Amino acid sequence: MITVMRYGHRPMRDKRTTTHVGLVARAFGADRILLAGTGGVPKSILDVVDRWGGDFRVETVREWRRFLRDFQGTRIHLTMYGLPLGETIDEIRERSLKGDLLIFVGAEKVPPEVYEWCDYNVAVGSQPHSEIAALAVFLDHLHRGAELECEFPGAELRVVPSERGKEVKEL
Ligand code: SAM
Repeated sequence: MITVMRYGHRPMRDKRTTTHVGLVARAFGADRILLAGTGGVPKSILDVVDRWGGDFRVETVREWRRFLRDFQGTRIHLTMYGLPLGETIDEIRERSLKGDLLIFVGAEKVPPEVYEWCDYNVAVGSQPHSEIAALAVFLDHLHRGAELECEFPGAELRVVPSERGKEVKEL
């Protein structure tokens, strides 16, 4: 099971980014997103799950500190200050075969205990960029691209890949 924890969502400012973190988590092979310290769940993530299928879950967690500290599995904090992705991803993939993963991404400044409690602080390059990009690249390296071939059971809609134009099949 792969969980993404999104920390520090500010309801007015970050709604669109949180939605995109959720959509990327789902599309790139995570099982659920936990929104820590949020005002609510953006409806657009739930709409995508409804129409495009799969079992992706969206939950909120009030006591995120306790959840992170006590999590039984491997905790990964994505941060530009961490160790390079290329040096850590094979070990993390090995661990994912034996237990659950929690991937922590921030919106605002992340409290110091997160760096302490997480088993890995991983940098997707050591430049500042975005939690959406960091998550996508991390999950893609974790799954070695296989997540892009995944089927989403129970979908109402499916894209029919085409060289030009848009084709969507209603199932
Ligand atoms: N200024 C914030 C801080 O010092 O923690 C970072 C804000 S950044 C816009 C939001 C999130 O993107 C970070 O918490 C981190 O999870 C992720 N992020 C940004 N650049 C990253 C990188 N190079 N590698 C991994 N994660 C990154």
